[in-house]
Amino acid sequence: MNRLIAAGTFRPDTALPPLSTPRGGEVWLVGAGPGDPGLLTLQGHHSLLRASVVVHDRLGCEEIVHFLPGPVRRIAVGKTPGAASPTQEEIARLLIEEARAGEAVVRLKGGDPFVFGRGMEEVLALREAGIPCRIVPGISSSIAAPAAAGIPVTHRGTGRSFRVSTGWTREGAPPPSGTADTHVFLMGMRAMASIVEGLLGMGVPAETPAAVVSNAATYRQRSVRATLGTVRDEVRRAGLEPPAVLVVGETASFAADSLPETIVVTGSRIPEALERHYPAARWLWRPVSRREPLGAGQRAALRPRAEAALSADWILFNSPPAVEEFFRLLSGYGWDARRISARLAVVGTGTAAALEALRLVPDLAAVAGEPGGLRGQLLPHLANNRVVFPRGDDYHGRLAEELARSGAAIEHLPVYRVAAARPAPVDWRFAHKVFFPSPSTVAHFAAVWPGAPVSGIEAICLGESAAARARQAGFGTTLDLAAGDPAPEAEWFNLQEMESAG
Ligand code: SAH
Repeated sequence: MNRLIAAGTFRPDTALPPLSTPRGGEVWLVGAGPGDPGLLTLQGHHSLLRASVVVHDRLGCEEIVHFLPGPVRRIAVGKTPGAASPTQEEIARLLIEEARAGEAVVRLKGGDPFVFGRGMEEVLALREAGIPCRIVPGISSSIAAPAAAGIPVTHRGTGRSFRVSTGWTREGAPPPSGTADTHVFLMGMRAMASIVEGLLGMGVPAETPAAVVSNAATYRQRSVRATLGTVRDEVRRAGLEPPAVLVVGETASFAADSLPETIVVTGSRIPEALERHYPAARWLWRPVSRREPLGAGQRAALRPRAEAALSADWILFNSPPAVEEFFRLLSGYGWDARRISARLAVVGTGTAAALEALRLVPDLAAVAGEPGGLRGQLLPHLANNRVVFPRGDDYHGRLAEELARSGAAIEHLPVYRVAAARPAPVDWRFAHKVFFPSPSTVAHFAAVWPGAPVSGIEAICLGESAAARARQAGFGTTLDLAAGDPAPEAEWFNLQEMESAG
């Protein structure tokens, strides 16, 4: 086991100096980036975790806001097509009121707050009201949307300057002005005709490469590559929708034609085996269930069995949540780890790391890639022993069964509940595959999205029982990720860990 620790599962907590965060009475204006939560800055992420109120736009913010921690209050002020939205004055008033009430306010804006984001208007209003305010820049779609389609806004030789313009103002479409090698237009979908006319009128040749990137850096990203002369027709033909950027210039010829397929992930994480199988996929994280602690009554009822577990031969953990919830349960009873006389066995490096975080070193660890696989590593030690197995109340994996068959006396200890989650919506036109780590995720999926067009979606499943459930649920095609692996022993072990993580 010490080998695991020596191999470097321990990591320091930060790679950067400590970051400051908004305090009560302050407003932080934070750029959310173009839409992919991974493109939020570290400072932005950190301030969201410490905010008490988040006042957010729609564009660029949807995925991020959905995953904010529970206690954070969210206030949507973004413009939704066809719906009334607060005016700039109302937004400023709201920010001032919240800050005066002592809240730590993050004002989350799509892209960068100062690139056609009306950020300065909010800053001026806050200044006038005497509210401390800080700007956290974001990655602007003016650069990130072209990049998401493979277009650099500058390129040695052909792109020495770029110009970012708005395609729409209060007065309508402004005529394009000024020269640049690369022209980027935001808010240009409605007025594309007059933008194209304007550029042609300025002498930009009709053969100049042009591209439009819609919903960049989200799972709905689409793009077309054309020329200045053909771009309008191409956009109409492809049915691209706003938000989108228009790029005109030699660098637009770099636009990529294809996009990775989107895989909806219904479990709590993206297992390594899945990533290995689909190295080019775009992931859409939509856990359909979530972990919940036991109720007070359940905790009380479990107490005698938990106490008996402390002196079993082994306690076997097969997932990080099992570790975390087992020890949470113990502290709830007022016991600490020193009361445990059982030996500790873990399956998986992640599980070992969870134990290590509690400064406990397992007596036995089964990890992928070791000779003999799980059977070889665990069974000889656990056979004919009394083994307590903490797990979630939805456990359907084969690990316990397999151990029982080998003669171990398995005592199941359901230390947490798995409840249905309310995931963010999915636009199924852009989702091609769904990953199910366990049979129960298929059941939760059907409850959450009864109307999903499953017959046209491929279900990627982990294990035969999940695949059978998916076929039953009507998925057009199902693929069992665990079947036909060249290293079945190692894979079998991985499977256990993933099943419980689902
Ligand atoms: N402050 C923002 C821009 C706000 S103006 C930023 O820096 O990105 C809104 C316009 O931004 C949209 O009309 C569209 O042109 C562009 N935009 C925002 N998000 C986008 C995305 N994910 N993909 C393509 N264009 C986007």
